[in-house]
Amino acid sequence: MKKVLNFSAGPSKIPTEVLKIAQEQLLDFNDSGISIMTGSHRAKMFEDVHNETIELIKELYKVPDNYKVLFIQGGASMQFAMLPMNLKQSGMVEFVDTGVWSSKAIKEAKIQGLDVNIIASSEESGYDCIPSKMIFSEDCDYGYITSNNTIYGTQYKVYPKCKNLVVDASSDVFSYPIDWKNIGLLFAGAQKNAGLAGVTIVIIREDLLDIAGDDVPSMLKYKNYAKSNSMFNTPPVFSIYLLNLTMKWLRDQGGVEQIQVQNKQKAKILYDVIDSSEGFYVGHSQKDSRSLMNVSFTIRGGYDELQKKFLSKAEEKGMIGLKGHRLLGGIRASIYNAITIEEVQTLANFMEEFKQENFNKKTYEVLNVKCGGCANTLKKTLKEDFGEVEVDLEAMPRKITLDMTDDRMEELKEKLRSLGYPLTTDELSGFDKLSTTAKSFVSCAIGKMSDEE
Ligand code: PMP
Repeated sequence: MKKVLNFSAGPSKIPTEVLKIAQEQLLDFNDSGISIMTGSHRAKMFEDVHNETIELIKELYKVPDNYKVLFIQGGASMQFAMLPMNLKQSGMVEFVDTGVWSSKAIKEAKIQGLDVNIIASSEESGYDCIPSKMIFSEDCDYGYITSNNTIYGTQYKVYPKCKNLVVDASSDVFSYPIDWKNIGLLFAGAQKNAGLAGVTIVIIREDLLDIAGDDVPSMLKYKNYAKSNSMFNTPPVFSIYLLNLTMKWLRDQGGVEQIQVQNKQKAKILYDVIDSSEGFYVGHSQKDSRSLMNVSFTIRGGYDELQKKFLSKAEEKGMIGLKGHRLLGGIRASIYNAITIEEVQTLANFMEEFKQENFNKKTYEVLNVKCGGCANTLKKTLKEDFGEVEVDLEAMPRKITLDMTDDRMEELKEKLRSLGYPLTTDELSGFDKLSTTAKSFVSCAIGKMSDEE
C-alpha cells in the first residue's frame, strides 16, 4: 500500500489502529454475522456501542454528572443555528469573532433574530490572534467562542469566563483537558479528532435543556435528543461506531492529558522550523495564539510559485493535505491527535530541506544612499512584490538583504529598472541620465552584489 502522510484539515487522519479494527469488523461485528452498519439502531448490538461511546466520552473528558452527551447530525454548522434557537432567553448573545467559523455562527444567530454583540474581534489583523481582552456581560444568554481556528491556526490557551460559555471545539476537541466549571455547551464535528464526519458531539449542561420553547422544531431541540438518548431518529451508526473506536484509541494513548503533552511536542517541532528559518517560513498566527492543531504559514511572505513547488514536492514525498485554506492561501499542516511525532518530524525535515534548496539569500550593497529614509523607501517598494527585505542602516554603503531565487531575481531587476534604479556598474554610469523623478524617488542605486549564505 502507498505510504501517505495525511495532514488534511478535515476530514483528516483517523488512527491506523482504529481503521484496522473497523476493517476486521466490517463484515461481521463481534460474531453477530452482520456489519454494525446494517443492524437496527434499536438492537442491543448497536445500543451497547452507542452507550459505551457516551460513557467513554464522559470518562475521558471528565464530563461532570450534570451534563448530557448528545449525538446530532448536520455537522458543526447546524449547531450555529440550533444554539440561538435553543438557548435564547432575553435575546442578547455575545461573540468573540476569531474568523470564518465564528462569523458563520454570528450570521446564524442574527437570522434567528437575536441581538448579537461582538465583544472582541481579531478581524483587523487578519485573524492572526485570539483577542487579549474578552469580557462577557452578566446578562447575555450565552457567550460564544471558537476554541481553535482551523483556518488561521490560532487557539485559546484559556477560555474566557461566562456564565453560559458556548465553545465550538470542532478542531481541538479531545486534545486537552477541559475545565467544565465555566461551560454551558461544547460542541464538535467528529471529522478531526473524533473519527468520521456525520456525527456532531454536543455536551450540554442540563439546566440549559429546559430553555427552548415550543416553537423550536422537534429535530432541532436539544431536549429531544437528551430525552431519547440521541435516538430521536436513526442516528449515524457508523460514525458513532468509529467515534467509539477513536475514544478507545485515545484511552490507550493515556487520555486527553497525555495526548496534550504529545500535541505540544508535535507543534513545537514545526514552529521551531518556522522560527529558525530566517523569515523563509512565516507563521500566520501571532506567537502567543499559536494553535497546536493547525500550523498555518506562508513561504517568503506568500510567494506563490515557491508555495506551489513546496506542495508538489511534499506530495512527491507522500505528504498530502498541506494546501492552506482558500481564504488564507499558503500552507497549513493539520496535526490532530492521530498524527504521530514521527510524521511531524518527517514534515519538519522536509521543510528544512526545502528551505536549504530554495533559500537564496543575497546581500546587495546600495550605493549613493544619502539617508536611512532612502533605504527604507526602497525596502517598502520591494516589500509589495518581494516580501520582507532586511536593510542594514548602519553599514556604509547601506546593505539590503533578500531571499531571491534566480528567476525571481530577473523579476526584481525588471522592477528596479522600471523604477529607474541602475543595477550594475555599467548601468550605474547611466545614472545621471535618469529622469529627475526617478532620481528623487530614492536617490540611490543598487550596485555591487555579494552572495551570502
Ligand atoms: N467549526 C470549526 C472550528 C471548523 O473547523 C469547522 C469545519 N472545518 C466547522 C465549524 C464546520 O464543520 P461542519 O463541516 O461539520 O459543519
